[in-house]
Amino acid sequence: MSGRTHAMVPAALTAALFNTDPVLTLTAAAAGLAPDIDEPWSVIGMRLWFLAWWMKYVCGHRTVSHSLLMVVTVGIVGILTLMPVKMVVAVTIGLGSHVVLDAMSGGVQVWWPKKERWVLARYPVYGRMDQLLLVMAMLVAVGCLLMRVNEEVRTASDEGQQSADIIYLER
Ligand SMILES: [Zn+2]
Repeated sequence: MSGRTHAMVPAALTAALFNTDPVLTLTAAAAGLAPDIDEPWSVIGMRLWFLAWWMKYVCGHRTVSHSLLMVVTVGIVGILTLMPVKMVVAVTIGLGSHVVLDAMSGGVQVWWPKKERWVLARYPVYGRMDQLLLVMAMLVAVGCLLMRVNEEVRTASDEGQQSADIIYLER
């Protein structure tokens, strides 16, 4: 799928799971882009082109960086380096959703180093399904954000009311 969908889908999932925590949501979006480090023309590959060209030349596209082994390894490293559990979950959602989304657009070597590809569908990148997923993810993310804002405003007004009550009682 396209980079924007790879970022937006995990962002929406993480926003829904963790009450739109901004750091976790952005972490999931960034993790959603990370596996395409094996493609020099991807969002991340254009920024880290030296690494991307090397990865593509050595491993090929949609291989080790799109595998279950990579997702599990990163998760274990996160736990071993005492990353907060929520952060590990956000990163795993980003990486895992990337693998599934690419399995829907032609397939990935999910069982790398085995070469066989896991193909769920062959929706083209930037095609209708890509756009649909992007729009749905945006709606979910905006919905979660509005719920969070509503909650914050309510809490702030409750606190304001409580301090007004205290001032009233103390007089
Ligand atoms: Zn990819």
